[in-house]
Amino acid sequence: MLRGQFHVHTTFSDGTMTPEEVVSAYERLGFHFLAVTDHDHLLKPSYGDTIAALDSPLLIFTGIELTIHCRKGYVHVSRIEGEREVLHIFNHPADLGVSPRECARLIAEVAAVQPIDAVEVTSHGFYTPEFDIPEIPYPKVAADDAHTPSGCGRCWVELDGALEKDAIIRAVKEGRFVNCFAAGEVKRKPTKAPRIIRFA
Ligand SMILES: [Zn+2]
Ligand SMILES: [Zn+2]
Repeated sequence: MLRGQFHVHTTFSDGTMTPEEVVSAYERLGFHFLAVTDHDHLLKPSYGDTIAALDSPLLIFTGIELTIHCRKGYVHVSRIEGEREVLHIFNHPADLGVSPRECARLIAEVAAVQPIDAVEVTSHGFYTPEFDIPEIPYPKVAADDAHTPSGCGRCWVELDGALEKDAIIRAVKEGRFVNCFAAGEVKRKPTKAPRIIRFA
């Protein structure tokens, strides 16, 4: 099983950790892959080169959290680069302040102008089960959206297969993964019980 994280911030936007610190935090937590997804509108120069040059046993994806303007103001969609594949994840629907049904409509509107492959079911790493519903017809991803050390490792995805960017992206698009949460991080009663794992 590969353990991975698709949403984290660094000092290249509004995170408190440098890219090197983020990578070593997830190395210590036993992860196999990590997507760094700093905000487009806050991005500092040389971001892409810095992330691509990170030296780590982790497989590192370069990503960006896009600000997409829409009827509700704006939403966040992460664009995560593979070799040939690209993964787009609609982020933290619970943070939009709309009902799950309204959110489903909003995602459909955004998907008309912007690729969407998956939707988060977490807010800052905490499970938001009200958005884990069939009316939002996408694979549902758990992600940390970590901005600080304490935000790392609340949740993650696990999947089988090669530690290879395009294989991982295809697994997510096809829903071949499970969401996992560190013990104590599922604050609300889940509609479908996610897998709870306690760190050793
Ligand atoms: Zn966001
Ligand atoms: Zn974010």
